[in-house]
Amino acid sequence: MKSITSVLETLFNSHKLNKEDCLVLLSQLDEEGVREQLSAEAVRLRRQYYGDKVFTRGLIEFTNICKNNCFYCGIRRDNANVNRYRLSKQEIMQCCKEGYALGFRTFVLQGGEDGFFTDDVMCNIISEIKAHYPEVAITLSLGEREMESYRRMKQAGADRYLLRHETANEAHYRMLHPDEMKLSNRKSCLYALKELGYQVGAGMMIGSPGQTYECLADDLVFLQELKPHMVGMGPFIPHKDTCFAKEQAGSVELTLAMLSIVRILLPSVLLPATTALGTLDPKGREKGLLAGCNVVMPNLSPVKNRKDYALYDNKICTGDESAQCIKCMTNRVEAAGFHLVSERGDSAAYGDDADFKY
Ligand code: SAH
Repeated sequence: MKSITSVLETLFNSHKLNKEDCLVLLSQLDEEGVREQLSAEAVRLRRQYYGDKVFTRGLIEFTNICKNNCFYCGIRRDNANVNRYRLSKQEIMQCCKEGYALGFRTFVLQGGEDGFFTDDVMCNIISEIKAHYPEVAITLSLGEREMESYRRMKQAGADRYLLRHETANEAHYRMLHPDEMKLSNRKSCLYALKELGYQVGAGMMIGSPGQTYECLADDLVFLQELKPHMVGMGPFIPHKDTCFAKEQAGSVELTLAMLSIVRILLPSVLLPATTALGTLDPKGREKGLLAGCNVVMPNLSPVKNRKDYALYDNKICTGDESAQCIKCMTNRVEAAGFHLVSERGDSAAYGDDADFKY
């Protein structure tokens, strides 16, 4: 087995780790100076690629209706206690209007897998947003669909797609999802999205029930293979109406270490300091930025719907207006020593010289 010193050396010099190296690193995070070295190198790299810029994304949670039954998720199909909603096109356009005025140049449309939003409906919404705001980027986060569907939405103007793989370990995937869901399909979707030219985001919760260091090592190996442009990672937080109501939340410390490791493995990655991190720790998002994150995603959803998009308990920012969210976020980013910018914020690894950047 390699020593932790030589694993860190490999990581910093080659930006690669095999599964064995990942296991050494994860099991020895508590050795003296390891966490500090990881965060220092992660912040150095994010500065090299993105300076002191932090990109902002306006998150529009446009439907909490979902045909899936993921064991961890508060809006799973079988949760009868959810007040279900879907936003109309007019409501979505209103969110964009407010968001644009506040300086957002990326809108993220996130929702459950809601059959109402067919390809025709989605393409219509996407092209209307692009017609009004040609210079903004549109990110979709609507789960698994057919290649043809992804293609049509790309043609309509979508730029990016977030689809966390949730876990790259087959046995762990089975602990988190009902039988009808397949890790292989999730992965195929990610590769299809990449092939279609989307900027793609994968990711996983940290500390989800049954997750071991081996699962996280599999995640790190998978991320190196996929080379996504974005990685969404936040702590697991239990939701009272799910099978995992009594499970423990993930650890903030481990989440921060994983964020730093991912930044070093994929130096130009877009890495959000997530709401889940801010929910577990009042300073969580600032800590995320100081661990290598360069993206924040304030909520742009209509205030009346926010509490109903509860993926987990005690989610923050469900009462604030969008304007309040951006103001609070600006202060937090500045306090951490970075600068919130009003830009599309594309991945530095997207475009002609993408391969070189990795
Ligand atoms: N339907 C879309 C969007 C899912 S919600 C899709 O399938 O991609 C976005 C993310 O929230 C999920 O990918 C999951 O990783 C995260 N999430 C869900 N439940 C959670 C929980 N209890 N704690 C923390 N994160 C959770």
